[in-house]
Amino acid sequence: MTSTHYRSHSVGEIDKSMLGSCVHLIGWVDRIRDHGGVTFIDLRDASGLVQVVINDEQQARGIKVEDVIQVEGKVRKRPEGEENAKLANGEVEVEASKIQIVSEASALPFQVSTSLENSGELNLPSEETRLRYRYLDLRRASMRKVLRTRSDMAKAAREALDSMGFMEVETPTLIKSTPEGARDFLVPARLSPGNWYALPQSPQLLKQLLMIGGVERYYQFARCYRDEDFRADRQPEFTQLDIEMGYAGKEDVMAMAEAVMRKVWAVGGIDIGTLEQMPWKQAMDEYGSDKPDIRFGNKLKDLTDFFKSTPFRVFQAPYVGAVLYPGGASLPRRQFDAWQDWAKQKGAKGLAYIVFRDGELLGPVAKNISEDERAGIMAASGAKDGDALFFAAGEKTASQKLLGAVRLEIAKKCHMYDPKEYKFLWVVDFPLFKKASEAKSEGDAPVGEGAWTSEHHPFTMPKEEFLDTFDKDPGSVLSDAYDMVCNGNEIGGGSVRIHDQDVQQRVFNVLGIGEKEAEEKFGFLLEALKYGTPPCAGIAFGWDRCVELLTGKGTIREVIAFPKFGAGKDLLTGAPSSITALQRKEAGVDYEQ
Ligand code: ASP
Repeated sequence: MTSTHYRSHSVGEIDKSMLGSCVHLIGWVDRIRDHGGVTFIDLRDASGLVQVVINDEQQARGIKVEDVIQVEGKVRKRPEGEENAKLANGEVEVEASKIQIVSEASALPFQVSTSLENSGELNLPSEETRLRYRYLDLRRASMRKVLRTRSDMAKAAREALDSMGFMEVETPTLIKSTPEGARDFLVPARLSPGNWYALPQSPQLLKQLLMIGGVERYYQFARCYRDEDFRADRQPEFTQLDIEMGYAGKEDVMAMAEAVMRKVWAVGGIDIGTLEQMPWKQAMDEYGSDKPDIRFGNKLKDLTDFFKSTPFRVFQAPYVGAVLYPGGASLPRRQFDAWQDWAKQKGAKGLAYIVFRDGELLGPVAKNISEDERAGIMAASGAKDGDALFFAAGEKTASQKLLGAVRLEIAKKCHMYDPKEYKFLWVVDFPLFKKASEAKSEGDAPVGEGAWTSEHHPFTMPKEEFLDTFDKDPGSVLSDAYDMVCNGNEIGGGSVRIHDQDVQQRVFNVLGIGEKEAEEKFGFLLEALKYGTPPCAGIAFGWDRCVELLTGKGTIREVIAFPKFGAGKDLLTGAPSSITALQRKEAGVDYEQ
């Protein structure tokens, strides 16, 4: 099916089985070499390269790199000794009888040649320049490969879901707000002046309504929009593989999700293995993260008990923990100073430490703790002579998170893991609520006006044992939520949903969403819950993140055809951009009620 109006074959199809055949090809001039009367062109299309030989100087005149040319010619064997082992069809070439320039190329702002990329000689410009000319950047073979992998992964997911009876359903993108903890992007409604649509932060409520509508097994590659404060490697619009199952509980969804992901990651030859289920509390206690990287150990040490009667004021705190830097005693002093700056950037006061060097305890903490503590700290922490130990003390979760971040930095510096290895797990038993102030300090938009906000989203079911009491002590309630984690990244998250109107209203109350407000914002959901709601549960995978991890590209911008750059800018089209006075008027953005 590669033959079209413009060609008989794609260049990748040309091989030695076609010797003597006459072919019509079309593509870009990847590279051009003039060998005194004979011109060699590497012709490129999406399938690869083929060498074209032009013996007629007249015909070769004026052809430039990245011109689109049409070639008519005969496939022949390359002369002895001139084969190119790097090309799949490097034993053959096409001797041109006719050449036509179809579309001329101006000099490109940067090179995109596959030949140069193959030989490692391609010089890439800055990311800004690549994104400004993304359509040229996408011509590179390695970019095309990523898009192909992304497409193959989606195909694998669709096949797996289809085989389990799931149905792909689209949901609208002009909707009423669905709170997922970020700000909404808003769209003015011209036909209803003063009113606004929100772009979905996820199709969460719509997929729950699909369950109430009897769809039972739904999935969708859904575009989601979250107007978040700047965070490294996030995009304001991104793709989720969104899934929901009716008449299903937590274990059903987790088994289904594993089956889908097993197929998806197999596209990259990766076996996701057997996934352990780690309670959130254990993840925080041992790894200082709700998305633990379990490729390496070096777990946090809880030293709260050990320091319970310490004279050191800083350690008279609800939590004192530590993480080991093996061999850290040999670091120069300025590196410990750099760690202080690093911790301050993370909002901490600093990073206390002890250095164990030649039988001595050095560093600021060592002077302040008691004699007994000095004598016992090595045994309590597992430190050896030659190591360093970093501490965090204060509020438990915040201190654990800081140590978790230290643990990751140390692992990077000490090469504690093989970057090619993949380790997956489930984190389960999350808290249902977190403090609204915590969400704000992390740049999230808390849902509701209360002191508590949702850890996942407001439609997550409390674990059964908390059903009667969850509004009394919100801080200690666990939920039926689960996250799939790969190498320290949350790649998917979901939960069992509330299918009872009363429970849903009580959760809203904890969040500070009163009955009137709930009616205004979610009246349609509360009403739908009245008419017989199948218990349901679901999950959504961060699709860009999955592709990024599988391809090892390091940032999701590398696996999205047209990503946004810093501050949500589209460097190619210039969006976001100003609008005209007429557009403002028509859209009603200045409308005052
Ligand atoms: N809507 C959730 C999210 O976007 C996923 C889910 O609960 O299914 O994180």
